[in-house]
Amino acid sequence: MSTVAQCLFCRIVAGEIPADVVAENADAVAFRDINPQAPLHVLVVPREHHADVAQLAAADPRLLAAVVELADQVAGTEADGQFRLIFNTGPESGQSVFHAHGHVLGGVRLGWTPA
Ligand code: C5P
Repeated sequence: MSTVAQCLFCRIVAGEIPADVVAENADAVAFRDINPQAPLHVLVVPREHHADVAQLAAADPRLLAAVVELADQVAGTEADGQFRLIFNTGPESGQSVFHAHGHVLGGVRLGWTPA
Protein backbone atom coordinates (compact mmCIF):
# COMPACT_ATOMS: atom_id res chain seq x y z
CA MET A 1 0.00 0.00 0.00
CA SER A 2 1.16 3.55 -0.54
CA THR A 3 0.44 6.98 0.84
CA VAL A 4 -1.59 9.32 -1.34
CA ALA A 5 1.60 11.26 -2.19
CA GLN A 6 3.31 8.09 -3.43
CA CYS A 7 0.20 6.58 -5.03
CA LEU A 8 0.92 5.64 -8.64
CA PHE A 9 -2.53 6.51 -9.95
CA CYS A 10 -2.65 9.80 -8.00
CA ARG A 11 0.62 10.65 -9.73
CA ILE A 12 -0.79 9.71 -13.16
CA VAL A 13 -3.88 11.86 -12.48
CA ALA A 14 -1.57 14.74 -11.51
CA GLY A 15 0.45 14.31 -14.72
CA GLU A 16 3.62 13.44 -12.80
CA ILE A 17 3.88 10.01 -14.43
CA PRO A 18 3.10 9.61 -18.14
CA ALA A 19 0.09 7.59 -19.25
CA ASP A 20 -1.84 7.18 -22.49
CA VAL A 21 -4.93 9.13 -21.45
CA VAL A 22 -7.90 8.45 -23.73
CA ALA A 23 -10.69 10.37 -21.97
CA GLU A 24 -11.41 12.34 -18.84
CA ASN A 25 -14.18 14.16 -17.07
CA ALA A 26 -14.33 16.37 -14.00
CA ASP A 27 -14.10 13.43 -11.64
CA ALA A 28 -12.25 10.63 -13.44
CA VAL A 29 -9.45 9.86 -15.89
CA ALA A 30 -9.21 6.97 -18.38
CA PHE A 31 -5.86 5.68 -19.63
CA ARG A 32 -4.62 2.57 -21.41
CA ASP A 33 -3.36 -0.28 -19.25
CA ILE A 34 0.37 -0.82 -19.86
CA ASN A 35 -0.22 -4.59 -19.93
CA PRO A 36 -3.41 -4.96 -21.99
CA GLN A 37 -5.46 -8.16 -21.66
CA ALA A 38 -7.88 -7.36 -24.51
CA PRO A 39 -7.93 -5.13 -27.61
CA LEU A 40 -9.60 -2.53 -25.40
CA HIS A 41 -8.10 -2.40 -21.93
CA VAL A 42 -8.41 0.97 -20.27
CA LEU A 43 -8.27 1.86 -16.60
CA VAL A 44 -10.73 4.41 -15.27
CA VAL A 45 -9.72 6.03 -12.00
CA PRO A 46 -11.37 8.69 -9.87
CA ARG A 47 -9.22 11.80 -9.53
CA GLU A 48 -9.73 11.62 -5.77
CA HIS A 49 -7.82 8.94 -3.88
CA HIS A 50 -9.82 6.03 -2.48
CA ALA A 51 -8.13 2.70 -1.86
CA ASP A 52 -10.71 0.54 -3.65
CA VAL A 53 -14.15 0.65 -5.23
CA ALA A 54 -15.96 -0.26 -2.01
CA GLN A 55 -14.38 2.67 -0.19
CA LEU A 56 -15.10 4.91 -3.18
CA ALA A 57 -18.77 3.95 -3.20
CA ALA A 58 -19.08 4.44 0.55
CA ALA A 59 -17.36 7.83 0.47
CA ASP A 60 -19.04 9.33 -2.61
CA PRO A 61 -21.33 7.27 -4.87
CA ARG A 62 -21.38 10.15 -7.34
CA LEU A 63 -17.69 9.53 -8.07
CA LEU A 64 -18.37 5.87 -8.76
CA ALA A 65 -21.09 6.92 -11.19
CA ALA A 66 -18.58 9.23 -12.88
CA VAL A 67 -16.15 6.31 -13.28
CA VAL A 68 -18.86 4.12 -14.85
CA GLU A 69 -19.98 6.96 -17.12
CA LEU A 70 -16.43 7.45 -18.40
CA ALA A 71 -16.00 3.69 -18.92
CA ASP A 72 -19.17 3.68 -21.01
CA GLN A 73 -17.92 6.68 -22.99
CA VAL A 74 -14.60 4.98 -23.80
CA ALA A 75 -16.31 1.72 -24.78
CA GLY A 76 -18.77 3.68 -26.90
CA THR A 77 -15.84 5.11 -28.85
CA GLU A 78 -13.71 1.97 -29.05
CA ALA A 79 -15.89 -1.13 -28.63
CA ASP A 80 -19.44 -0.41 -29.86
CA GLY A 81 -20.48 0.36 -26.29
CA GLN A 82 -19.94 -3.24 -25.17
CA PHE A 83 -17.55 -3.81 -22.32
CA ARG A 84 -16.71 -5.60 -19.11
CA LEU A 85 -15.95 -3.41 -16.10
CA ILE A 86 -13.85 -5.07 -13.37
CA PHE A 87 -12.88 -3.64 -10.01
CA ASN A 88 -10.34 -5.89 -8.34
CA THR A 89 -10.83 -5.30 -4.63
CA GLY A 90 -8.19 -6.62 -2.24
CA PRO A 91 -4.99 -8.55 -2.92
CA GLU A 92 -6.75 -11.92 -3.24
CA SER A 93 -8.80 -10.53 -6.12
CA GLY A 94 -5.66 -9.43 -7.92
CA GLN A 95 -5.66 -5.79 -6.87
CA SER A 96 -2.09 -4.47 -6.99
CA VAL A 97 -2.63 -0.70 -7.10
CA PHE A 98 -4.56 0.59 -4.11
CA HIS A 99 -6.28 3.51 -5.79
CA ALA A 100 -9.77 2.52 -6.95
CA HIS A 101 -9.83 1.70 -10.66
CA GLY A 102 -12.10 -0.04 -13.10
CA HIS A 103 -10.64 -2.19 -15.87
CA VAL A 104 -12.62 -1.56 -19.05
CA LEU A 105 -12.21 -4.62 -21.28
CA GLY A 106 -13.66 -5.11 -24.74
CA GLY A 107 -13.04 -5.24 -28.45
CA VAL A 108 -13.32 -9.02 -28.52
CA ARG A 109 -15.80 -11.68 -27.36
CA LEU A 110 -14.72 -12.23 -23.77
CA GLY A 111 -14.55 -15.59 -22.05
CA TRP A 112 -15.55 -16.19 -18.45
CA THR A 113 -12.58 -17.72 -16.68
CA PRO A 114 -11.61 -15.57 -13.70
CA ALA A 115 -9.57 -18.30 -11.99
O1 C5P B 1 -6.41 -4.51 -10.57
P1 C5P B 1 -4.96 -4.22 -10.44
O2 C5P B 1 -4.63 -3.36 -9.23
O3 C5P B 1 -4.06 -5.43 -10.49
O4 C5P B 1 -4.62 -3.39 -11.74
C1 C5P B 1 -3.52 -2.56 -11.84
C2 C5P B 1 -3.29 -2.36 -13.31
O5 C5P B 1 -2.49 -1.21 -13.50
C3 C5P B 1 -2.56 -3.52 -14.00
O6 C5P B 1 -3.40 -4.06 -15.02
C4 C5P B 1 -1.31 -2.85 -14.58
O7 C5P B 1 -0.96 -3.36 -15.84
C5 C5P B 1 -1.74 -1.40 -14.65
N1 C5P B 1 -0.69 -0.39 -14.63
C6 C5P B 1 -0.68 0.59 -15.61
N2 C5P B 1 0.27 1.57 -15.59
C7 C5P B 1 1.21 1.57 -14.64
C8 C5P B 1 1.22 0.58 -13.63
C9 C5P B 1 0.25 -0.40 -13.65
O8 C5P B 1 -1.51 0.57 -16.51
N3 C5P B 1 2.15 2.52 -14.66
